[in-house]
Amino acid sequence: MNRNDTIDLLTAIAARDQRTVGEGDIAAWATDLDDVTLAEALDAVTAFNRSEMATRRRIVAADIVTWVRQRRHDQVERDHAASLKADAQAAYREITAGGLDPHGGRRNSPALEELHAEAMTVACPAKPLGCGQPAGERCVRKLATGEVVATKIPHTARWKQATSGAATLS
Ligand SMILES: [Zn+2]
Repeated sequence: MNRNDTIDLLTAIAARDQRTVGEGDIAAWATDLDDVTLAEALDAVTAFNRSEMATRRRIVAADIVTWVRQRRHDQVERDHAASLKADAQAAYREITAGGLDPHGGRRNSPALEELHAEAMTVACPAKPLGCGQPAGERCVRKLATGEVVATKIPHTARWKQATSGAATLS
C-alpha cells in the first residue's frame, strides 16, 4: 500500500473507532502494510469489525497482516487442490482417449482387439478352460438365468491357444 492507500484505509478505520490519525500513523501503517493491497486491508478491517474482538479493542496493523496472510494461504491451498483435480481429470481423459479402461482393464486397446480376433481363428478349448465354441464362433457364457449368450471377450484359454498353441488356466 502506498501513502494514499494508507490514508484511505486509516480513514475507513477511523470512521469505525473514531481514532485520530496523524502523519506518524500514516507512515507507520504504510510501512507495516507494505506488501498488502488496499482491497485486502479493507476486507481485513471489515472482518475484524464483524468479529468479537472489535468489542474489546481497536484494530492494529498486525490484525490486517495476519488476516491477509491467512487468506492468501487458504487461496494457495484451494489453488493446489484445484490443480490436483485438474491433473487427475487430464490423466483420466488421456487414458480414455487412448482406449484404455481407467478402471483397470485394457479392454479397448488395439493390441487386445488383435488378440481377440486371433483367438477367433481357433476353437475355444472345452470346459473348464473354455466354452468349446468352434473357430469363428464367439465364445459363450451361461447367465445365472440359464440363458447362454455370446461374449465380447474370448476365453483366456482360447487366445492362449491361438497365440501359443497351449491351453492353460490363466
Ligand atoms: Zn470360449
